[in-house]
Formats: sequence, structure tokens, C-alpha cells
Amino acid sequence: MRPRARIVPFRGEYYELSPEKRHLVRGLIYPVPDPSLPFLGVHLTRMLDGSVHAGPNAVLALRREGYRWRDVSPRDVADVARFAGSWRLARRFAFPVGWDEVRRSLSRKRFARSLARLVPVVGPDDIVRHGAGVRAQAVLPDGGLAEDFVIDRAPGQVHILNAPSPAATSALEIARHIADSTQA
Ligand SMILES: Cc1cc2nc3c(=O)[nH]c(=O)nc-3n(C[C@H](O)[C@H](O)[C@H](O)COP(=O)(O)OP(=O)(O)OC[C@H]3O[C@@H](n4cnc5c(N)ncnc54)[C@H](O)[C@@H]3O)c2cc1C
Repeated sequence: MRPRARIVPFRGEYYELSPEKRHLVRGLIYPVPDPSLPFLGVHLTRMLDGSVHAGPNAVLALRREGYRWRDVSPRDVADVARFAGSWRLARRFAFPVGWDEVRRSLSRKRFARSLARLVPVVGPDDIVRHGAGVRAQAVLPDGGLAEDFVIDRAPGQVHILNAPSPAATSALEIARHIADSTQA
């Protein structure tokens, strides 16, 4: 039986490139992923309207719907703290990775420095804050991150868990999989 995962919220914050610098990005610019790290790292995404999103980072959210640092739920924090997998995850990643993420979240300069590894001329004055998303990340009891979508069923219900990137891209395939396995 699959070990029971717990959902831990990780906020992904975005900046947007200022209109004067949009011409620098004509497609998608990604870093080479480091497979030892849980998240991909900030990248640059040209949107259909020509705007360019920069991000997301990955910081522990202090509320399941914690889109800002000031969104705090003692109940959600306690829920994460009571789960042994959270502490095992923290032991592996809190220092230096998690700590660096927090510092980058609080500093536009640091965020811009990360982006400059992809496009060297990007500086702190070229980016403005642009919202955030929250990844409902499934963490396993051993502190590992579930690396695939998790589909749980209960009578009359289908739950699609752990659906951060690339769940939007995969939405039709996920739907097909559920439809096929429900008919079987
Ligand atoms: C930081 C981040 C980066 C990501 N990057 C990628 C990526 O690069 N590629 C990719 O494929 N996927 C990515 N994803 C995942 C993708 O965003 C999600 O898989 C996708 O948005 C899920 O779509 P959804 O329609 O199921 O849910 P959502 O997009 O979350 O939409 C649910 C909607 O329902 C609304 N809602 C919730 N409760 C209620 C209620 N009670 N009443 C009315 N409305 C309600 C919410 O406001 C929301 O608008 C990323 C996610 C995050 C957080």
C-alpha cells in the first residue's frame, strides 16, 4: 500500500519583467534542473500577450491559501509541524536551500540575481512583483516529495492530488486517464 502522503503548501512567487525589457525574452528560458533539488528554480516565461513572467520560487506557505507572507493559519502550521515527513524534508533542505529561498523571497535584488543567471542584463529595477501560486505538494512520511500526480478514490469521489507543474499541461491526459479507469 502507498504510504500516506500529507499535503504541504509551498508558495511560488512571481515577478514580471518591465515592458522595456520584454524584448529580451522571446520564448521560454529555463535553468538546467538540478535533480537533487525539489523544485526547478526560477525561469522566464513569455505569455501570449507578450508579457514575461519570472519565477516561481518556492517558500513554505504558512497557510494552505497563503499567497502572501502575512497569510498565516496557526492550524495549518500546526498541521505541517505535526507531520514527521515535514521535519525529515526540512532536515534535507532547510539549510542552505530553504533558507536561501526565504532570503530571495524577501529581496528583489536576490531574485534578480537568480534571473541574471539566465539573462545577464536583467537587474532589480527591471522586475515588478506579480502575484503568487500555492503548490499543494504531497510530502511522504520519509520526507520525500511525491514526484507524480496522486489520484485517490473514495466512493463516489476522485481526488487529484499533488497537481503542481506540469498538471495544467497534463490536464487533458489526466482527465483521459480518470475517464478510462472509471469505465474499466
Ligand atoms: C507556482 C506554480 C507553478 C506552476 N507551474 C506550472 C507549469 O509550469 N506547468 C503546468 O502545467 N502547471 C503548472 N502549475 C500547476 C497548475 O497551475 C495547476 O495544475 C492548475 O492550475 C490546476 O487547475 P485547476 O483548474 O484544477 O485548479 P485552479 O487553477 O486552482 O483553479 C481552481 C479555481 O477554483 C476557484 N475556487 C476554489 N474554491 C472555490 C469555491 N469554493 N467556489 C468558487 N470557486 C472556487 C479558485 O479560485 C480557482 O480559480 C503550477 C502551479 C503553481 C502553484
